Amino acid sequence: MTTSIVDRLRAGTVLGAEGYVFELERRGYIKAGPFVPEVVLDYPDAVRELHREFLRAGADVMVALTYYAHREKLRDVGREGDLEAMNRQAVRIAREVAREGGALVAGNVCNTWAYDPDDPATGQAVRAMYAEQLGWAVEEGVDFVISETNDYLGEALIALEVTRDLGLPAMVTLAPTQPDRTRDGYGYAEACRILAAEGAQVVGLNCDRGPETMLPLIAPIREAVECAVAVQPVPYRTHPGAPTMETLRSPGGEQAFPIALDPFTCTRFELAQFALQARELGVDYIGICCGAGPHHVRAMAEALGREVPAGKYSPSMDLHPMFRADVAAKDAAFLHSWSA
Ligand SMILES: [Zn+2]
Repeated sequence: MTTSIVDRLRAGTVLGAEGYVFELERRGYIKAGPFVPEVVLDYPDAVRELHREFLRAGADVMVALTYYAHREKLRDVGREGDLEAMNRQAVRIAREVAREGGALVAGNVCNTWAYDPDDPATGQAVRAMYAEQLGWAVEEGVDFVISETNDYLGEALIALEVTRDLGLPAMVTLAPTQPDRTRDGYGYAEACRILAAEGAQVVGLNCDRGPETMLPLIAPIREAVECAVAVQPVPYRTHPGAPTMETLRSPGGEQAFPIALDPFTCTRFELAQFALQARELGVDYIGICCGAGPHHVRAMAEALGREVPAGKYSPSMDLHPMFRADVAAKDAAFLHSWSA
Protein backbone atom coordinates (compact mmCIF):
# COMPACT_ATOMS: atom_id res chain seq x y z
CA MET A 1 0.00 0.00 0.00
CA THR A 2 2.82 2.42 0.81
CA THR A 3 3.92 3.87 -2.50
CA SER A 4 5.65 7.19 -3.01
CA ILE A 5 3.79 10.48 -2.82
CA VAL A 6 4.42 10.98 -6.53
CA ASP A 7 2.86 7.61 -7.40
CA ARG A 8 -0.09 8.27 -5.15
CA LEU A 9 -0.74 11.65 -6.72
CA ARG A 10 -0.52 10.08 -10.14
CA ALA A 11 -3.14 7.55 -9.10
CA GLY A 12 -5.62 10.13 -7.77
CA THR A 13 -6.36 12.76 -5.17
CA VAL A 14 -4.34 12.63 -1.97
CA LEU A 15 -6.12 13.80 1.18
CA GLY A 16 -4.06 15.70 3.73
CA ALA A 17 -4.91 16.70 7.29
CA GLU A 18 -3.06 19.19 9.42
CA GLY A 19 -3.85 21.64 12.18
CA TYR A 20 -2.14 19.57 14.89
CA VAL A 21 -0.88 22.63 16.73
CA PHE A 22 -4.28 24.37 17.03
CA GLU A 23 -6.08 21.15 17.98
CA LEU A 24 -3.54 20.11 20.61
CA GLU A 25 -3.57 23.66 21.99
CA ARG A 26 -7.35 23.38 22.41
CA ARG A 27 -6.87 20.05 24.17
CA GLY A 28 -4.46 21.61 26.65
CA TYR A 29 -1.13 20.21 25.44
CA ILE A 30 0.44 23.16 23.61
CA LYS A 31 0.83 26.74 24.82
CA ALA A 32 -0.76 29.36 22.58
CA GLY A 33 1.70 32.12 21.84
CA PRO A 34 4.94 30.23 21.31
CA PHE A 35 2.99 27.29 19.82
CA VAL A 36 6.00 24.99 20.21
CA PRO A 37 5.00 21.28 20.00
CA GLU A 38 6.39 20.34 23.43
CA VAL A 39 3.55 17.79 23.54
CA VAL A 40 5.69 15.48 21.38
CA LEU A 41 7.97 14.82 24.35
CA ASP A 42 5.63 15.64 27.22
CA TYR A 43 2.44 13.82 26.14
CA PRO A 44 3.29 11.61 23.16
CA ASP A 45 0.00 9.69 23.54
CA ALA A 46 -1.92 12.89 22.77
CA VAL A 47 -0.05 13.26 19.49
CA ARG A 48 -0.50 9.57 18.67
CA GLU A 49 -4.23 9.84 19.30
CA LEU A 50 -4.72 12.85 17.03
CA HIS A 51 -2.72 11.20 14.23
CA ARG A 52 -4.96 8.17 14.62
CA GLU A 53 -8.11 10.29 14.49
CA PHE A 54 -7.01 11.91 11.24
CA LEU A 55 -6.00 8.51 9.87
CA ARG A 56 -9.38 7.00 10.69
CA ALA A 57 -11.02 10.04 9.09
CA GLY A 58 -9.25 9.30 5.83
CA ALA A 59 -5.97 11.24 5.79
CA ASP A 60 -3.42 9.67 3.44
CA VAL A 61 -0.46 11.37 5.08
CA MET A 62 0.69 11.57 8.68
CA VAL A 63 2.59 14.82 9.05
CA ALA A 64 5.25 14.64 11.78
CA LEU A 65 4.54 17.31 14.38
CA THR A 66 7.76 19.28 13.97
CA TYR A 67 6.02 22.54 13.11
CA TYR A 68 7.92 25.25 15.02
CA ALA A 69 10.24 22.54 16.43
CA HIS A 70 13.25 24.45 15.16
CA ARG A 71 16.17 25.92 17.05
CA GLU A 72 14.92 29.51 17.12
CA LYS A 73 11.53 28.59 18.59
CA LEU A 74 12.83 26.09 21.12
CA ARG A 75 15.20 28.73 22.41
CA ASP A 76 12.15 30.95 23.09
CA VAL A 77 10.72 28.36 25.48
CA GLY A 78 14.06 27.33 27.00
CA ARG A 79 14.10 23.85 25.45
CA GLU A 80 16.86 24.11 22.87
CA GLY A 81 18.42 21.04 24.50
CA ASP A 82 15.37 19.00 23.53
CA LEU A 83 15.54 19.91 19.85
CA GLU A 84 16.86 16.63 18.48
CA ALA A 85 14.76 14.41 20.75
CA MET A 86 11.59 16.35 19.86
CA ASN A 87 12.21 16.12 16.12
CA ARG A 88 13.10 12.42 16.18
CA GLN A 89 10.19 11.47 18.41
CA ALA A 90 7.68 13.38 16.25
CA VAL A 91 8.68 11.36 13.19
CA ARG A 92 8.65 8.08 15.13
CA ILE A 93 5.10 8.72 16.36
CA ALA A 94 3.88 9.67 12.89
CA ARG A 95 5.47 6.52 11.42
CA GLU A 96 4.02 4.28 14.05
CA VAL A 97 0.46 5.49 13.35
CA ALA A 98 0.94 5.68 9.57
CA ARG A 99 1.74 1.96 9.58
CA GLU A 100 -1.67 1.23 11.12
CA GLY A 101 -3.37 2.46 7.95
CA GLY A 102 -0.91 2.45 5.08
CA ALA A 103 -0.43 6.23 5.19
CA LEU A 104 2.68 8.08 4.10
CA VAL A 105 4.87 9.96 6.56
CA ALA A 106 5.84 13.54 5.87
CA GLY A 107 8.67 15.39 7.53
CA ASN A 108 7.66 18.95 8.23
CA VAL A 109 9.36 22.34 8.30
CA CYS A 110 7.81 25.78 8.23
CA ASN A 111 8.61 29.46 8.11
CA THR A 112 11.20 30.22 10.77
CA TRP A 113 10.66 33.95 11.47
CA ALA A 114 14.45 34.15 11.19
CA TYR A 115 14.54 34.85 7.45
CA ASP A 116 15.11 38.35 6.07
CA PRO A 117 15.38 38.60 2.27
CA ASP A 118 17.64 41.64 2.67
CA ASP A 119 20.12 39.89 4.93
CA PRO A 120 21.90 36.89 3.31
CA ALA A 121 23.28 35.77 6.68
CA THR A 122 19.74 34.89 7.77
CA GLY A 123 19.48 32.52 4.81
CA GLN A 124 22.44 30.57 6.18
CA ALA A 125 20.87 30.38 9.63
CA VAL A 126 17.58 29.13 8.15
CA ARG A 127 19.41 26.56 6.03
CA ALA A 128 21.20 25.22 9.11
CA MET A 129 17.91 24.90 11.01
CA TYR A 130 16.21 23.04 8.15
CA ALA A 131 19.25 20.82 7.58
CA GLU A 132 19.33 19.63 11.17
CA GLN A 133 15.56 19.10 11.41
CA LEU A 134 15.29 17.26 8.12
CA GLY A 135 18.51 15.33 8.69
CA TRP A 136 16.94 13.79 11.80
CA ALA A 137 13.67 13.23 9.92
CA VAL A 138 15.45 11.29 7.19
CA GLU A 139 17.25 9.13 9.74
CA GLU A 140 13.95 8.30 11.43
CA GLY A 141 12.32 7.59 8.06
CA VAL A 142 10.03 9.98 6.15
CA ASP A 143 8.57 9.45 2.68
CA PHE A 144 8.65 13.11 1.67
CA VAL A 145 8.89 16.58 3.16
CA ILE A 146 6.22 19.26 3.50
CA SER A 147 7.65 22.77 3.76
CA GLU A 148 4.72 24.98 4.59
CA THR A 149 3.33 28.37 5.62
CA ASN A 150 6.11 30.01 3.65
CA ASP A 151 5.79 33.80 3.62
CA TYR A 152 8.88 34.26 1.47
CA LEU A 153 9.72 32.46 -1.75
CA GLY A 154 13.37 32.83 -0.73
CA GLU A 155 12.87 30.87 2.47
CA ALA A 156 10.77 28.25 0.65
CA LEU A 157 13.57 27.74 -1.85
CA ILE A 158 16.02 27.06 0.98
CA ALA A 159 13.74 24.34 2.36
CA LEU A 160 13.38 22.91 -1.13
CA GLU A 161 17.16 22.79 -1.66
CA VAL A 162 17.72 21.07 1.68
CA THR A 163 14.98 18.52 0.90
CA ARG A 164 16.35 17.89 -2.59
CA ASP A 165 19.88 17.43 -1.25
CA LEU A 166 18.52 14.75 1.07
CA GLY A 167 17.02 12.96 -1.94
CA LEU A 168 13.39 13.30 -0.85
CA PRO A 169 10.32 14.45 -2.78
CA ALA A 170 9.30 17.96 -1.75
CA MET A 171 5.90 19.53 -1.26
CA VAL A 172 6.27 23.28 -0.79
CA THR A 173 3.31 25.51 0.01
CA LEU A 174 3.02 29.24 0.51
CA ALA A 175 0.98 31.05 3.15
CA PRO A 176 -1.35 33.40 1.28
CA THR A 177 -1.46 36.15 3.90
CA GLN A 178 -1.26 38.95 1.34
CA PRO A 179 -3.66 39.82 -1.51
CA ASP A 180 -1.64 38.36 -4.36
CA ARG A 181 2.06 37.95 -3.58
CA THR A 182 4.64 36.62 -1.18
CA ARG A 183 6.38 38.94 1.28
CA ASP A 184 9.36 39.05 -1.06
CA GLY A 185 7.19 40.19 -3.94
CA TYR A 186 6.42 37.15 -6.11
CA GLY A 187 2.88 36.52 -7.31
CA TYR A 188 1.66 33.25 -5.79
CA ALA A 189 1.39 31.51 -9.15
CA GLU A 190 4.81 32.78 -10.22
CA ALA A 191 6.36 31.64 -6.93
CA CYS A 192 4.83 28.19 -7.44
CA ARG A 193 6.16 28.08 -11.00
CA ILE A 194 9.66 28.84 -9.71
CA LEU A 195 9.41 26.19 -6.97
CA ALA A 196 8.27 23.62 -9.54
CA ALA A 197 11.10 24.60 -11.89
CA GLU A 198 13.54 24.14 -8.99
CA GLY A 199 12.34 20.60 -8.49
CA ALA A 200 9.40 20.60 -6.08
CA GLN A 201 7.08 17.68 -6.85
CA VAL A 202 4.08 19.43 -5.25
CA VAL A 203 3.47 23.17 -4.90
CA GLY A 204 0.60 25.28 -3.68
CA LEU A 205 -0.91 27.09 -0.71
CA ASN A 206 -1.73 26.34 2.89
CA CYS A 207 -3.08 28.05 5.99
CA ASP A 208 -4.37 31.56 6.68
CA ARG A 209 -7.30 31.61 4.25
CA GLY A 210 -10.57 29.75 4.58
CA PRO A 211 -12.23 28.00 1.65
CA GLU A 212 -14.04 31.07 0.28
CA THR A 213 -10.96 33.25 -0.11
CA MET A 214 -8.55 30.41 -0.91
CA LEU A 215 -10.51 29.15 -3.93
CA PRO A 216 -9.92 32.17 -6.22
CA LEU A 217 -6.13 31.69 -5.94
CA ILE A 218 -6.15 28.13 -7.22
CA ALA A 219 -6.77 28.40 -10.98
CA PRO A 220 -3.74 30.62 -11.75
CA ILE A 221 -1.47 28.21 -9.88
CA ARG A 222 -2.97 25.22 -11.68
CA GLU A 223 -2.27 26.97 -14.99
CA ALA A 224 1.28 27.92 -14.02
CA VAL A 225 2.62 24.44 -13.23
CA GLU A 226 2.63 20.92 -14.63
CA CYS A 227 3.40 19.27 -11.29
CA ALA A 228 0.90 18.38 -8.58
CA VAL A 229 -0.87 21.22 -6.75
CA ALA A 230 -1.66 21.19 -3.02
CA VAL A 231 -4.19 23.39 -1.24
CA GLN A 232 -4.88 23.24 2.49
CA PRO A 233 -7.14 26.06 3.76
CA VAL A 234 -8.07 26.76 7.36
CA PRO A 235 -11.66 25.83 8.26
CA TYR A 236 -12.68 29.38 9.07
CA ARG A 237 -15.22 31.60 7.34
CA THR A 238 -12.90 34.15 5.84
CA HIS A 239 -14.54 36.47 3.29
CA PRO A 240 -13.57 39.37 1.00
CA GLY A 241 -13.80 41.82 3.92
CA ALA A 242 -11.53 39.63 6.08
CA PRO A 243 -9.66 37.35 3.68
CA THR A 244 -7.41 35.67 6.27
CA MET A 245 -7.96 34.25 9.74
CA GLU A 246 -5.65 36.97 11.05
CA THR A 247 -8.04 39.67 9.82
CA LEU A 248 -11.27 38.18 11.24
CA ARG A 249 -12.83 40.35 13.94
CA SER A 250 -15.56 39.68 16.48
CA PRO A 251 -18.78 41.76 16.29
CA GLY A 252 -17.14 43.97 18.95
CA GLY A 253 -14.08 44.48 16.72
CA GLU A 254 -11.66 42.28 18.66
CA GLN A 255 -9.04 40.23 16.84
CA ALA A 256 -10.15 36.60 16.72
CA PHE A 257 -6.76 35.12 15.78
CA PRO A 258 -5.49 32.82 17.07
CA ILE A 259 -7.56 31.61 20.01
CA ALA A 260 -11.00 33.20 19.58
CA LEU A 261 -11.70 31.91 16.09
CA ASP A 262 -14.31 29.38 17.24
CA PRO A 263 -17.40 31.33 16.08
CA PHE A 264 -15.96 31.48 12.56
CA THR A 265 -15.45 27.73 12.24
CA CYS A 266 -16.74 26.12 9.06
CA THR A 267 -19.07 23.17 9.25
CA ARG A 268 -18.01 19.78 7.92
CA PHE A 269 -20.37 20.38 4.97
CA GLU A 270 -18.48 23.49 3.94
CA LEU A 271 -15.20 21.58 3.90
CA ALA A 272 -16.80 18.72 1.98
CA GLN A 273 -17.94 21.27 -0.59
CA PHE A 274 -14.44 22.75 -0.70
CA ALA A 275 -12.91 19.33 -1.37
CA LEU A 276 -15.16 18.89 -4.40
CA GLN A 277 -14.48 22.42 -5.68
CA ALA A 278 -10.73 21.95 -5.27
CA ARG A 279 -10.80 18.64 -7.15
CA GLU A 280 -12.81 20.31 -9.92
CA LEU A 281 -10.10 22.98 -10.17
CA GLY A 282 -7.46 20.31 -10.60
CA VAL A 283 -5.99 20.24 -7.10
CA ASP A 284 -4.15 16.97 -6.48
CA TYR A 285 -3.40 17.21 -2.77
CA ILE A 286 -6.48 18.45 -0.92
CA GLY A 287 -6.15 19.10 2.78
CA ILE A 288 -7.00 21.28 5.71
CA CYS A 289 -4.90 23.34 8.11
CA CYS A 290 -5.15 25.15 11.47
CA GLY A 291 -8.53 24.64 13.11
CA ALA A 292 -9.21 21.26 11.50
CA GLY A 293 -11.00 18.53 13.35
CA PRO A 294 -11.37 14.88 12.34
CA HIS A 295 -15.04 15.52 11.46
CA HIS A 296 -13.93 17.94 8.73
CA VAL A 297 -11.48 15.41 7.33
CA ARG A 298 -14.00 12.57 7.30
CA ALA A 299 -16.56 14.76 5.49
CA MET A 300 -13.92 15.69 2.90
CA ALA A 301 -12.93 12.06 2.44
CA GLU A 302 -16.52 10.96 1.98
CA ALA A 303 -17.25 13.83 -0.43
CA LEU A 304 -14.31 12.55 -2.49
CA GLY A 305 -15.94 9.13 -2.59
CA ARG A 306 -13.82 7.38 0.02
CA GLU A 307 -14.85 4.79 2.52
CA VAL A 308 -12.92 5.43 5.71
CA PRO A 309 -12.70 3.67 9.09
CA ALA A 310 -14.45 6.51 10.94
CA GLY A 311 -17.27 6.24 8.39
CA LYS A 312 -18.69 3.50 10.58
CA TYR A 313 -19.96 6.36 12.75
CA SER A 314 -20.87 8.82 10.01
CA PRO A 315 -24.24 10.47 10.57
CA SER A 316 -27.51 8.55 10.18
CA MET A 317 -29.93 11.35 10.84
CA ASP A 318 -32.76 9.05 9.80
CA LEU A 319 -32.27 7.43 13.20
CA HIS A 320 -32.40 10.71 15.14
CA PRO A 321 -35.57 10.95 17.25
CA MET A 322 -36.45 14.38 15.83
CA PHE A 323 -35.64 13.66 12.19
CA ARG A 324 -36.72 10.10 11.50
CA ALA A 325 -39.35 9.57 8.80
CA ASP A 326 -41.88 8.19 11.27
CA VAL A 327 -41.24 10.97 13.77
CA ALA A 328 -44.00 11.35 16.33
CA ALA A 329 -45.66 14.75 16.39
CA LYS A 330 -44.61 15.32 20.00
CA ASP A 331 -40.93 14.72 19.05
CA ALA A 332 -40.98 16.82 15.84
CA ALA A 333 -42.21 19.68 17.98
CA PHE A 334 -38.79 19.92 19.63
CA LEU A 335 -37.41 21.30 16.36
CA HIS A 336 -40.12 23.80 15.65
CA SER A 337 -41.50 25.18 18.84
CA TRP A 338 -40.14 27.16 21.71
CA SER A 339 -42.22 27.47 24.83
CA ALA A 340 -40.94 29.91 27.36
ZN1 LIG B 1 -2.27 26.37 9.41
